[in-house]
Amino acid sequence: MRIEVDLDICQGHGMCEMEAPDVFEAHSDHVEILNDHPDESQREEVEAGVHYCPTQALRIIENE
Ligand code: SF4
Repeated sequence: MRIEVDLDICQGHGMCEMEAPDVFEAHSDHVEILNDHPDESQREEVEAGVHYCPTQALRIIENE
């Protein structure tokens, strides 16, 4: 899987980082994706981060 972020709508809330701190690092107005190809073992936390993003800025791309 690969993570994609739309930085035009990310507001740096950091909900994603709370769910998956190894993958997301929130800055004041945007998120930094620390690992845009997370391991399958991180799927649960990554999906939670995507789900709880209040602006729906994140999405998971499967099977590229
Ligand atoms: S939760 Fe969403 S809006 Fe907040 S930093 Fe993460 S991607 Fe950006």
